[in-house]
Amino acid sequence: MMKKPVYFKETLAAVEKANQYLNLPEGVFKRLCLPTRSLTVNIPVKMDDGTMSFFTGYRVQYDMSRGPGKGGIRYHPGITRDEVTALAALMTWKCAVVDIPFGGAKGGVDCDARILSLGEKERLTRRFTYELFPLIGPEKDIPAPDMYTDEQVMAWIMDTYSMMKGFTVPEVVTGKPVSLGGSKGRKTATSEGLIITIIEAIKAEGMCLEGLRTSVLGFGNVGYHSARLLHMLGATIVGLADSHGAIYNPRGINMSTIARHKTETGSLADFEGADNLTVDELLAMETDLIIPAAICGQINPGNVDSIKTRMIAEGANGPVTSEADRVLIEKGVFIIPDILGNAGGVVVSYFEWLQGMQRLLWKSREIKKKLKHIMTKAFGEVMDISKDNNTDMRTAATILGVKRVAEAIKMRGFYP
Ligand code: NAD
Repeated sequence: MMKKPVYFKETLAAVEKANQYLNLPEGVFKRLCLPTRSLTVNIPVKMDDGTMSFFTGYRVQYDMSRGPGKGGIRYHPGITRDEVTALAALMTWKCAVVDIPFGGAKGGVDCDARILSLGEKERLTRRFTYELFPLIGPEKDIPAPDMYTDEQVMAWIMDTYSMMKGFTVPEVVTGKPVSLGGSKGRKTATSEGLIITIIEAIKAEGMCLEGLRTSVLGFGNVGYHSARLLHMLGATIVGLADSHGAIYNPRGINMSTIARHKTETGSLADFEGADNLTVDELLAMETDLIIPAAICGQINPGNVDSIKTRMIAEGANGPVTSEADRVLIEKGVFIIPDILGNAGGVVVSYFEWLQGMQRLLWKSREIKKKLKHIMTKAFGEVMDISKDNNTDMRTAATILGVKRVAEAIKMRGFYP
């Protein structure tokens, strides 16, 4: 069995590499290698059968020099403070790459949301919100959905926070239902942003969207919508994966029938129009594009050698370990890194927060136009840094993000 990577150390490897180009003052660099604040809580939940269970939850605020903390809350079995810290650091660079005035944060609860009843999930969420109350708020730290959390979970967080404040505070979370002040376009924002960067990368690499053989790992918010949108644009979705395993058909998978199959059976497996494979077997199939849109470290030293693809677009956060990243770069695979590729979600979260703070409602068309502008600009800036420094896209994106955060830290100075 492969050793579990130490995620935060993995994340810092990219920062250390970026600093070879930035040469930051020692104090600023040290500051960037540590989270500002971490909270660990143990959440008591009365289960439906009358027993008590305790779940450990985390919120890490990595750096808030550029604005309030921003980052999702993930419900995932085995999640650790190390992983949440790594994800909070990535959020910090990501907000800076797309130049929105937020710092980076992240939360997580060690639980298997798939086996909790709706009532258990609600009690867990409300008590977790209570524990987070001193830390979160529209001007302090604004949670959003992530793996196994959704707009319902955001509605419970918003309601609990509002009850404790004594008035309704929609802007304490983003990714809310539209009926509670959620933004139009938030649900598909991450995948739409990812597609914008894929189109830019395809242009830069002289590739073509039509018939682009694509595998997508993860069939949730990011994975499903990315596969669906790419399919609509002419790509051939040859492989898909979820937590149960993978499916593959070199002639292409029909997106509407697979979506129905997943809804009916709860899994992608045993779909008539494709063969069952393991995720590692799917990764070894010849493709033009792989979109990891699920867990951290899914592409790792255990499977990287067998990967035969031209491009990887990271819908997930931290899906490629630093060692695997090195191998892929040597192989000449073009990687759109997480802090650039999946930033569309936080960009539209920013729009949602702005609309909430100003009590405004923007139109879909306006949101899509603004998203496209920000994502295209960020892609161009990262590409220019990559070319100017003859370095890979992850290092270039980290240079851009870390540089902007470092500038804010330097200008503000250290308190007191
Ligand atoms: P989700 O809960 O909607 O979906 C997760 C999917 O991953 C599910 O289909 C699940 O079956 C699948 N999965 C779980 N374990 C797997 C495994 N071992 N192999 C293959 N698939 C597996 O979550 P999401 O919101 O789509 O988030 C997915 C990733 O995208 C996460 O890394 C998240 O941090 C990142 N992300 C999400 C957003 C967002 O707006 N939701 C924004 C930026 C980044």
